[in-house]
Amino acid sequence: MRLTSIQLQHYRNYEQIELATDSQVNLFVGRNAQGKTNLLEAIFVLALTKSHRTSKDKELVGWQSSEARIRGVVEKRYGPLTLDLSLSPQGKKAKINGLEQRKLSEFVGSLNVVMFAPEDLEIVKGTPGIRRRFLDMEIGQVQPGYLHALGQYSKVLVQRNNYLKTASPGNANQAMMDVWNMQLAEYGVKIVKKRQNFIEKLQKWAQQIHAGITAGAEELTIVYRPSFESDPTEDESILFEQFMIKLTQVKDQELRRGMTLVGPHRDDMAFFINGKEASVYGSQGQQRTTALSLKLAEIELIHEEIGEYPLLLLDDVLSELDQHRQTQLIETFQSKVQTFITTTGLESVNISKLHDSRVYQVKDGH
Ligand code: ATP
Ligand code: MG
Repeated sequence: MRLTSIQLQHYRNYEQIELATDSQVNLFVGRNAQGKTNLLEAIFVLALTKSHRTSKDKELVGWQSSEARIRGVVEKRYGPLTLDLSLSPQGKKAKINGLEQRKLSEFVGSLNVVMFAPEDLEIVKGTPGIRRRFLDMEIGQVQPGYLHALGQYSKVLVQRNNYLKTASPGNANQAMMDVWNMQLAEYGVKIVKKRQNFIEKLQKWAQQIHAGITAGAEELTIVYRPSFESDPTEDESILFEQFMIKLTQVKDQELRRGMTLVGPHRDDMAFFINGKEASVYGSQGQQRTTALSLKLAEIELIHEEIGEYPLLLLDDVLSELDQHRQTQLIETFQSKVQTFITTTGLESVNISKLHDSRVYQVKDGH
């Protein structure tokens, strides 16, 4: 797919801007703090209705305004779509070809993107919460049912946690706990199953790509670490039983601590290079390459799932790669993936290697 134009209103430091983006490679060049990342972020937000940098939508709205708007035209296999997203204190509104979407989860997936930014290193070496956010964002893009299950799960989790805070092992209402346990397990299992499935496919592609980047010197493996034992080959009803058993086992502990201790909100995943955990033993370069392999794997995975390539958004990362890796990255993807790149200077980019590119100078939100 291709994004052929983007229009912003009161988005961060952009008052009003419209760009035709019909080239295969689009380079946003400018000095620091001019709005390069904001542009990539806006494309990301149009795809996922959430920023990669913040969970507070308020920050996306221009300081002088109360509502931000993003419009994009996406060329897909079966024709063009006009996507509109507005963000205001009243919430988010999304339209496809002028038709308001009742649920944001139905809007997500109309435009697919993969962003690679310096902070993605945190997926490898940061906290489990960062990895869960990564999983949720990526699976949500390709599996519409996922975000729904996640939303329902979070609601049950909040209610259950509120109850656990007020009750104690001696006075817990078992009937109420049973209802929450069933609901938690019902949605939780859907999430776990989709995460298992996603990680398995991601690992297949990431392994291949990582071996390519490191010329076969490194073997990357990705391991899912769910909060309760769950065999990936088992079906949902078995996982449901396992989840329920685990909840029974930790019941008293949960009541004492006032929080839910098992379920996908406590999941994690880990990366191994030649059998050694990358977050513990990996060098900075190995961790960076792992993050890059993951992102490039996602491109293939999205293609596999939806039959179209997503857009690739590269924020400030070209200058961090050596010439060899830069060339390899751009050459591998430029024929099939529309790419948006930000950089402070063109000297680090080998433009002669690009077939269909356009340079935009970004200066103070213009
Ligand atoms: P760098 O090269 O340093 O990464 P950049 O061009 O990517 O710079 P951006 O991150 O896009 O810069 O930010 C540009 C400017 O946007 C900053 O100066 C910031 O103060 C401003 N900004 C951020 N949020 C808002 C907002 N809600 N309203 C108005 N301006 C904002
Ligand atoms: Mg930036």
